[in-house]
Amino acid sequence: MVACRRMRTGDLEVMNSSPDYDSANIFAKILRGEAPCYKVFEDERTFAFLDIMPQAEGHTLVIPKFGAADVFRLPSEDLAATIITTQRVAGAVKKAFAAPGVMIAQLNGSAAGQTVFHLHFHILPRFNGIDMRMHARGMADCETLAAHAERIKAVL
Ligand code: 5GP
Repeated sequence: MVACRRMRTGDLEVMNSSPDYDSANIFAKILRGEAPCYKVFEDERTFAFLDIMPQAEGHTLVIPKFGAADVFRLPSEDLAATIITTQRVAGAVKKAFAAPGVMIAQLNGSAAGQTVFHLHFHILPRFNGIDMRMHARGMADCETLAAHAERIKAVL
């Protein structure tokens, strides 16, 4: 992974956060530019990047810049912005991968399977008869992720 040249966000700050938010999580680090990612979209309140352990080609994550662990802690303006970005990016993912279906998923709490405690929406292209891979298991290779990010950006 050291050889990967993933894009850094450029020292973005997490804009604000709920009182109990742990800013040491990996998505906060990505937002602050402390960890790399394959970015596909960004605006004032939201950020979208590829999942590094994709369950399908084009698996993309959309997050608010506001630091909130789950959907219950995110102010409504940021939640609205995040779902609007999710709709927009999901449309681009669908087009980029010529997917007949798109799954949008969002997990709250470890009992629901959440593993990173900064709210995020998963966008997964789906095809008839093709199962998703296991959640957060196999790491994708750098070249593939870079190419997929370019495909999505090209149709955004
Ligand atoms: P959750 O289980 O919280 O709904 O999803 C967290 C997602 O984050 C998983 O799909 C996992 O593959 C992804 N993920 C974990 N660590 C990283 C990372 O360092 N970079 C990126 N881009 N995705 C990550």
